[in-house]
Amino acid sequence: MDYQSILNEIADEITPLLKDGKVADYIPALSMVDPNQFGMSITLFDGTQYSVGHSNTLFSIQSISKLFTFTLALKFHGFDLYKRIGHEPSGNPFNSLVQLEYEKGKPRNPFINAGAINVTDALINHYGDETSAYEEVLKFIRAIADEDSIRSNPIVAVSEMEHGYRNLALANLMKSFNNLDNNVLDVVQTYFNHCAVEMSTKMLSRAMLYLANHGVDPITGKSYITAQQAKRINAVMLTCGHYDASGDFAFHVGLPGKSGVGGGIVALIPKKMGIAVWSPGLNSNGNSLVGTMALELFTTKTGLSIF
Ligand code: GLU
Repeated sequence: MDYQSILNEIADEITPLLKDGKVADYIPALSMVDPNQFGMSITLFDGTQYSVGHSNTLFSIQSISKLFTFTLALKFHGFDLYKRIGHEPSGNPFNSLVQLEYEKGKPRNPFINAGAINVTDALINHYGDETSAYEEVLKFIRAIADEDSIRSNPIVAVSEMEHGYRNLALANLMKSFNNLDNNVLDVVQTYFNHCAVEMSTKMLSRAMLYLANHGVDPITGKSYITAQQAKRINAVMLTCGHYDASGDFAFHVGLPGKSGVGGGIVALIPKKMGIAVWSPGLNSNGNSLVGTMALELFTTKTGLSIF
């Protein structure tokens, strides 16, 4: 298949839509990003990459980091993790407090904010302290992306904490229900440090390969998680990866995917490739407007989806 021509066509078709999205402004450091940008990359199992647009530009991965923290928490805690976090779609916005109150401090899934904060708490338990948890997650991301230069942007992490009222409220609510073990500020800051990691679409599409290949990196042969764990992560991505628009994403795109408010979306085609797209303008659900459209065009043009 001529992937390069398909990516070029997609870039042409989405250009008129770039002005329609709105950059996330509840994190001031992210509101400065120029919305008029688009990048897309795919990485095949032999390492071949195809890209278009701003595919080397580093951007804030934000909630895409929840995929990597969930992977590690599942690896170390196994099924016990589901005592503290569910695996059902929430049908609510990513930062909603209401459902968490009704459900006694147990987040619906690891991809809404409350769930990811809880996952971070579980990782701090495993690694012993918040600094080690942060460093080990970063080390994992560097390994799966095969890129040692990956860093977290401290300006974004600080900006998130300065305006982190809602995430702190979620963490405090979980703590009040005895579903958070560590210090609230430490857990939330560690969560923000992971959200503030910066990567390009080239790096992210490479980083998705272990999930497209039953937990084993097809290039290095390194096994990160079991096939069963990879299956579960992909299932939660499909059902919960886009917050209250997860059904819509599955309907239009037909792939497991995870979005972030930085405008990135990762997706994968099992046994074939990792995909990443970035465009900072968001739709009303907090997912990249053009990114979602580009992925829909990709599965339509290639005929590749999981269905
Ligand atoms: N750091 C963001 C927050 O907690 C992540 C949200 C997202 O990317 O959807 O609000």
